[in-house]
Amino acid sequence: MNVDQAIERAKQEKKSNKKFFSKLKVRPPKDLDEQFHKLHEEVFQEIDCLACANCCRTTSPIFRDIDIERLARHLGIRPAELVEQHLHLDQDGDYVLNVAPCPFLGADNYCSVYEARPKACREYPHTDRKNMLQILPLTLRNTLVCPAVGEVVRRLKGS
Ligand code: SF4
Ligand code: SF4
Repeated sequence: MNVDQAIERAKQEKKSNKKFFSKLKVRPPKDLDEQFHKLHEEVFQEIDCLACANCCRTTSPIFRDIDIERLARHLGIRPAELVEQHLHLDQDGDYVLNVAPCPFLGADNYCSVYEARPKACREYPHTDRKNMLQILPLTLRNTLVCPAVGEVVRRLKGS
C-alpha cells in the first residue's frame, strides 16, 4: 500500500464522501453499524498498520488523565513530567502531543508503549464503534489520515 497515494485519493473523494454522508444522515439504513463493522473487519484483514503508521505520524491522540497516569507509570516518571515533556492543551482543552510523529513511534512503526498507549490509540480509527451515524464527521476527517477508513467508506458507497 502506498500511503501517500491512498491519502491523495481520499482528498479527491472528500466532496463525494461528504455528500454520501449527508444522505446517510437523512436516511440512515437500520444496519449502518453492522455495515461499517463488517467492512472494518474486511479492510483490516487486507491492510497492515505496520506498513502505514500514518495516524501515529500525522495526528495526536487525546490523552485523558487516566491515559497520562497509565503511560507515566509505564515510563517510570511522574504524570506531571510526562505532560511537561510531551503534551500541551489544545483549543478544546484536551491534552495532545507536542510533536508529530508521535515520540513513542519506533523507526519500525511499532508503538514503543503499546501496552500503555492511550485509549484513543486503541480505538483508532473508530470504524468499529457503536452509533457510527454520530461520528460521520470524524469518519470523514479520518479518511484523510487513515487509508483503511478511506477504503471502508469506498466499499460502503459501493464504489
Ligand atoms: S502512543 Fe503509540 S499508538 Fe499512540 S500515537 Fe504514539 S506510537 Fe501511535
Ligand atoms: S489505523 Fe489507519 S492510519 Fe493508522 S496505521 Fe492503521 S491503516 Fe494506517
